[in-house]
Amino acid sequence: MITIPKGTKDVLPSESHKWRFVEDAARRTAEEFAIKEIRTPVFEHTELFARGVGETTDVVTKEMYTFEDKGGRSITLKPEGTAGAARLFIENGLSSSPLPLKAFYLTPCYRYERPQAGRLREFHQFGIEVFGSAEAETDAEVIFAASSFLDKLGIKDVELEINSIGCKSCRAEYNKALKDYFRPHLSKMCPTCNERFEKNPLRMIDCKEEGCKAITAGAPKILDYLCPDCKAHFEKVKSLLDVLNVKYSVNPDIVRGLDYYTRTVFEFVSTSIGAQGTVCGGGRYDGLIEELGGGSVPAIGFAAGLERLILLMENTGVDFPPPKAPEIYIAGMDERSRTEAFKLACTLRASGICAECDKMNRSVKSQLKFADKIGARFVVVIGENELASGECDLKNMADGTSVRIKTGNILSYLRDNKL
Ligand code: ATP
Ligand code: MG
Repeated sequence: MITIPKGTKDVLPSESHKWRFVEDAARRTAEEFAIKEIRTPVFEHTELFARGVGETTDVVTKEMYTFEDKGGRSITLKPEGTAGAARLFIENGLSSSPLPLKAFYLTPCYRYERPQAGRLREFHQFGIEVFGSAEAETDAEVIFAASSFLDKLGIKDVELEINSIGCKSCRAEYNKALKDYFRPHLSKMCPTCNERFEKNPLRMIDCKEEGCKAITAGAPKILDYLCPDCKAHFEKVKSLLDVLNVKYSVNPDIVRGLDYYTRTVFEFVSTSIGAQGTVCGGGRYDGLIEELGGGSVPAIGFAAGLERLILLMENTGVDFPPPKAPEIYIAGMDERSRTEAFKLACTLRASGICAECDKMNRSVKSQLKFADKIGARFVVVIGENELASGECDLKNMADGTSVRIKTGNILSYLRDNKL
């Protein structure tokens, strides 16, 4: 038996409607905010992520699926969507398109992690990226779009946490303060923290080791080091969220997993799915496009993990709209009627009706049982009498009532009686 690779999941026919529901909500959200879809390859040159995600991140140092292809190039399966979106923006000269440019994606992502509930090696993200606007209105709009998406899913049990991690200049001050604070504790901190101490002390705030977390709790807070511009920007974002009635709390410990963030960072967090509580995370990344060789283009975005959202919805009893069942099942009694049933089903399908008929050579009784199992809304049985009269009994399975109609009128009847 060949089994599915560790950390990956099948989507079964019985659960795909849940995915469709979440993806449809994502697309509807994008439409409401005038955000167009982009699609980038599942694999990119490794360097894109090394530079775009950041050399000191967990993603780049530990989690990437990297391999050499037959041409000797280093290739990496996308661990997230932003770097590819930024590459697309630069490579296609979109900085000369009307700005801001608003893009979204629904994409699989790959990270070599220890699989657990809500943490997989292949997972899926809905992400939005906005290029070209440095204004606080854009931060508020992107956060509002994320919140509106979660609303559409019927998710109530999440809280929005926001923070500002400043710009290059306030970060320099802050990093110095962090180093002064952490220096005497270094011997008690994990090897990763020790490495980050030199390269990017801000990342030490993000460490998940219990021992490090205890030390980090007393560290200086970035909010006390924001320059006047960054402070004003953050105040504006908060006041716009107030105007939009979006509830949030400020959490000075959010630094986000990726290196390229500046200023606003945010997370939507739930307490109902255990340790992997962050269902959506995002932030501003004003330095990324330049880092990747484009011009100086500010940008902001978020990504939400679809598996975690579905898990959260299941755990909190949020209803998914039920999958669509066939409108009609057409049973056939004998050879000639079965052919007629088949033809009728295919004619209805050509008119956009979901119709089903027997392909297992079953008895009429078994056909009706099957129709019931698949939840067909109406059932009709075609036999010699129906063929001769051109009429049939259309049975409504919900209430057991029947109407006698011309076989040729089934289509218009179904159209008039749409749910
Ligand atoms: P975490 O702290 O849980 O590792 P992260 O900071 O690595 O999250 P991001 O890179 O911000 O996550 O990705 C955005 C979203 O993608 C997360 O909020 C989460 O919903 C989802 N996500 C990230 N990694 C995984 C994974 N391995 N499996 C499933 N979903 C994931
Ligand atoms: Mg992670």
